[in-house]
Parts: sequence; structure tokens; C-alpha cells
Amino acid sequence: MTLDPANWDDTRALGREMVDDMMTWLETVRDRPAWTSVPDDAKARLAEPAPFQGASLEAVYQAFKRDILPYPTGNVHPRFWGWVMGTGTPTGVLAEMLAATMNPHLAGYDQSAALIERQVLSWLIELMGFPADASGVLVSGGTEANINGLMAARVAKAGWDVRAEGLRAGPPLTVYGSIETHSWILTACETMGMGRDAFRAVPVGADYRIDVEACRARIVADLAAGMRPFAIVGNAGTVSTGATDDLRALRALADDFGLWLHVDGAFGALAAWTDSRDIVAGMETADSLAFDLHKWGYMPYEVGVALTRDPDAQTAAYQPAGKGVPAYLKSAKGGIAVETTYFADRGLQLSRGFRALKVWMSMKEQGVDRIAGAIQRNIDQAHRLGELVTGHPDLELLAPVTLNIVCLRYAPAGLGEARLNPLNQAILVALQSRGIAVPSQTVLQDRFAIRVCISNHRSVDADFNLLVEAVAKIGAEMTGDIGA
Ligand SMILES: *Cc1c(COP(=O)(O)O)cnc(C)c1O
Repeated sequence: MTLDPANWDDTRALGREMVDDMMTWLETVRDRPAWTSVPDDAKARLAEPAPFQGASLEAVYQAFKRDILPYPTGNVHPRFWGWVMGTGTPTGVLAEMLAATMNPHLAGYDQSAALIERQVLSWLIELMGFPADASGVLVSGGTEANINGLMAARVAKAGWDVRAEGLRAGPPLTVYGSIETHSWILTACETMGMGRDAFRAVPVGADYRIDVEACRARIVADLAAGMRPFAIVGNAGTVSTGATDDLRALRALADDFGLWLHVDGAFGALAAWTDSRDIVAGMETADSLAFDLHKWGYMPYEVGVALTRDPDAQTAAYQPAGKGVPAYLKSAKGGIAVETTYFADRGLQLSRGFRALKVWMSMKEQGVDRIAGAIQRNIDQAHRLGELVTGHPDLELLAPVTLNIVCLRYAPAGLGEARLNPLNQAILVALQSRGIAVPSQTVLQDRFAIRVCISNHRSVDADFNLLVEAVAKIGAEMTGDIGA
């Protein structure tokens, strides 16, 4: 007995019902709370022993609808602005089903899916202003894409064969970036065996952009101490405030010392598709660029993109070298096994899925102009929200708004500084628990901030009005100042 259905017609009918249900669920998302905790009875039902005996797909689907579907992260909701999350689209949902149906293996091979991944990479390379012969690969997300760039940097700039001889064969390697750099950089330094201390965290100015001269001074000091600087990481959109480093200045600094410039554009890189592209100017001069499509590209998880300017830099970092290519992975002159590992040679994964299909379908159906329009609308919404906050007597803006992130707090006159952090923490929890909206948090100069990151194509102006009113109302409630 295979694992295929005994009755295909039943499965077809149930599948149609699922598609209907899911489209209705997305269509009505605004009617539900932005977030709901998983209730105890659902948790109890889900905690089952391993199911040795199967059930009908219909019964399993009913369990999904009852205990799983109602309690998502919430990032599909128009008032979810926590961390940096994407919304997804109905097109993305359907593309995932089609991709899973074909279920292709994307190490490489002679097949349509490989052509589609090459095609979307060539579009993305062009849209990001990289040279047409740049190398690229779709990966799990920003963390992997950033590590991919840093791996290429190390092979290109260490000065010895790190892949063959390891780290022991040379001086300690160091990499530079601002203190606002996302924590992937520490994961990268640890994963790459260099240790967290290899990352030199450089201070930022009042605008949360890297202090370029401080970075230069740190490089000079490290060289004098016998270290081997190999890369600078520039941020196009930091997580806390959305700041973008002066990427042109970082390019010049990297050139002064012969270093690699990697840009983490996890979400910010997408601004290059819009009328606000000047914000990330210089990004196109990077040696490598990492960005996500599952955030501000509004595509379903997971899909990130790793690009290198040098067409050979990714294979130099990842392709099995010398005798490392096992016989079972060698490419053939004909048959399916032509360029067997075309994509696998550019990154960590060997077995890879058809991420490219949701990218291809989304870009073709929505069109780059419409996606860019949604991104630009989010930038405009952030600026408008910043103005609402500045114009409100009881609210305070905690960082300049440049991209799509607004950091604010409830701070009416007369409340001492010491009360504001716990108060705003409580307001944030109330916003989430009451299902009103989901911002997340950050801390800026010791001040707790309610952080609104708008990478949501479903948000409209009224959603931000509602947020501002709710923060002020909950704040007043909590300070007993209901009349104010
Ligand atoms: C989200 C994010 C990352 C990590 O990307 P993942 O897709 O979550 O792995 C790295 N840098 C920045 C600036 C991010 O916003």
C-alpha cells in the first residue's frame, strides 16, 4: 500500500474545501484579533502520543482548524508590526501548494525548477543594482544569507586557504560592523569558528548609523595588534530603528584596507525597488548582499537571498574542492545530471526546495511595481505615524523615522523617567493580549520603546490611528488618569 489516497476524488474534494477555507480565512483576517494565546484546552488536545494508527485526512484537517489555525503568530493581520515579519499573500499560499506538488529537488539538475530559480535570481540581481553576472542563491532567510556573504568574504580575503587549513593557519580574523548589527553576526562568527570576539562592534551616532571614523580607527588598531581584518558589514535597515549606514563611506573604507564589504539588507534592501531608493544608496557597490523576501517582499516563509558581486565567490566558498566531490554527486554530460549541484555549490544546503516558485509567481502576478508600491506605502505610513506621535501631547518619538520603523513611548508630562520603562512594557503587553495590535520592543539609550515595524501590505492609515489612540488610552488607564 502506497501513501497515496485510496480515493483520489475524496482528496480532491477535501483539497478544494481547504483552498476555500484558507482564502476565506485570509479574506476575513481583519475581523479577528491581531494575536491570541493558545488556550489550555487546545494545548491539551495537541499533546498526544505518537499516532501509530492513522486517521482520515478529514479528521486531521478538522483538528488543524480547531486547534492550530486560530492561534497563528498574527503576522498575517493588518495590525501586526512586531519584529520584522512579512504578511504573505494568497498567491504565495497557492504557489507553495504547486511547489510541493512538483516537489522538485533543487541542488541543480536539468529541470524547469532550476531555470525558474536562475530566472528570479537574475531579476533580483538587476533590481538590487548588482552586475548581471553576479552570483546568487535562494536560502532559508536573512541569517543564512548573511552567513553566506561572510563565508565568501573569508575565502576571498583571509590571505590563506581557510577551507583547507582552517583558522589555525593564520592570524585571528576580525570583522567590523556597528553595535546595531543584528545578532546574526555573532551566530556567524561562532558558526564559522572564529568566536564572537572576532566581531568588532563599532559605536553609532545619534542617528544610529555607524561611526565610520571609529570603524577606521578600530581596523588600524587591530592591524597594529597583528589581527587580520577581512570584512566590514554595513546595515541597510537596522532592526531597532531602521537606520541605514553610510554605505558609500563604508565602501571607501573597505577599499582603503582591501576589505570585503557585506551589506545586511534583510528588509531595508527592498527600499531599492521604490522611490525611496536613495536611503540605501551605495548598497549596489557591496561585494555581497543579503536580503529576505519573506519580510518586506511579503512572500511566505521561508525565502532569503544571498548575492555576491564576484560570479565565482559563492562557489569558491562552498563548492566541494579537489577530491571533495564525491562520485555520486558528479555531473554528467547528458541526462538529468547536468549541473547536478549548480545551486548546492553556492550555499549550505544540498537538498533544496522550490522556494523560487513563490518568488516567480508573486513577481509575475503582482508585478514589481505593485510590490514596490506596497513597500513605499509602508515607508509613508511610518512617517505619518511618526508625525502622529510627535503631534500627540502624551506620546514621545524615541528615534528618527527613516525607513519603516517607528519607536515610541507613552510619556505624559509629570510622569518620572523611572516609571516610563515598566509602564510602556505593560502597555505593549496589553496591546498584544487584548488583540488590538502587535508591535514589539526595543531599548534605545536605556529607554523602553514600543517598536512598530511596518512590513505589512494589509495595514491602512486607520490602523495607525487606532494604535495611537490605544497606546494613549491604555497608558492613561494604567496611570489612573482616565480623564486626561
Ligand atoms: C530578520 C533580520 C535578520 C535575520 O533574518 P532571518 O530571515 O530572520 O534569518 C538579519 N538582519 C536583519 C536586519 C533582520 O531584520
